[in-house]
Amino acid sequence: NREIHLASRPQGWPAAENFRLVTTEVPTPGPGQIVVRNQYLSVDPYMRGRMNDVKSYLPPFPLDAPLDGGAVGEVVASEAEGVKPGDTVLHGLGWREYALLDAKAARVVDPTLAPVTAYLSVLGMTGLTAYAGLLDVAGMKPGERVFVSAAAGSVGSLVGQIARLKGAARVVGSAGSAAKVERLRALGFDAAFDYHDGPVRESLRAAAPDGIDVYFDNVGGDHLEAAIAAMRPHGRAAICGMIAQYNDLRPPAAPRNLALVIGKRLTLRGFLVGDHGGLREQFVREMSGWLRDGSVSYDETVVDGIENAPAAFLGLLRGENLGKMLVRV
Ligand code: NDP
Repeated sequence: NREIHLASRPQGWPAAENFRLVTTEVPTPGPGQIVVRNQYLSVDPYMRGRMNDVKSYLPPFPLDAPLDGGAVGEVVASEAEGVKPGDTVLHGLGWREYALLDAKAARVVDPTLAPVTAYLSVLGMTGLTAYAGLLDVAGMKPGERVFVSAAAGSVGSLVGQIARLKGAARVVGSAGSAAKVERLRALGFDAAFDYHDGPVRESLRAAAPDGIDVYFDNVGGDHLEAAIAAMRPHGRAAICGMIAQYNDLRPPAAPRNLALVIGKRLTLRGFLVGDHGGLREQFVREMSGWLRDGSVSYDETVVDGIENAPAAFLGLLRGENLGKMLVRV
């Protein structure tokens, strides 16, 4: 069994030296437990925060122990009722080839209903984040104008498509390359821009000349500042992530225009997907329908090999992914 440990805490941008590949015995299950041979691991931006030794909504990763995170795999041994070898399960012990866990902490999924990777992406945590953030947290209504940042990523690409399906009048996305911008147009975004091409504020004004009602923030910083500037009275922002500052050692310089929140009566609302589990059933039903009839497409970027999981994570932070970044074990 090979697994990835956190060898040291990154200062600023993480590097390969912060991770260590460790070989251990394949575990055997005790009563109530299962052993899962992981097939796909999720790497996610929130993991960067857990590499710091600070108190947050999730505890820090311990040093010299395997990292964890979303994974799907096949049960290879079971001492638990209701879960049998051959079952496919979704669980939280990624970053390793074999996971030993209580069966209660795993969810059996149907690999014939969707590709198993979908449970880590479009039908999983990032899909629910997009759905709950846009519809519940920001309360997007038909006819509204929506802007989403990191729009070619896993959450962002779904936000834009859900907005369109729910009747948004205009959907605008920003991303980090010309190829990503092209992909956003193909996904049905009305306008998209590469945030490297000029100040975000100017690019957004050109892409949304009548302003925006809803901003789905994945980036923070100058993107949030530009969105505040573009927001119409009573606009709402779902504050989902601020990836532009996860590796910063200093506090961000933007947004500098927060006072506009008053006059425009804006709502900026942070959220955690974990609080929106009550929407899961409705989300899975609706998203499954959209996938079946082809109205939602999703991208995945797959890196091969557990030994390359750190590189996949670093690549995610650098924007090397289109859609969900995954590791095939
Ligand atoms: P993505 O698939 O969107 O991958 C991250 C993307 O962020 C990269 O592809 C990159 O794309 C972009 N990015 C990186 N650095 C910058 C930067 N400095 N400025 C602008 N864009 C940047 O990841 P997810 O879909 O998993 O997550 C998206 C966001 O949602 C993250 O902020 C994450 O923390 C947050 N999140 C929050 C949850 C919650 O419960 N609140 C749950 C899940 C995710 P590019 O090439 O365009 O730069």
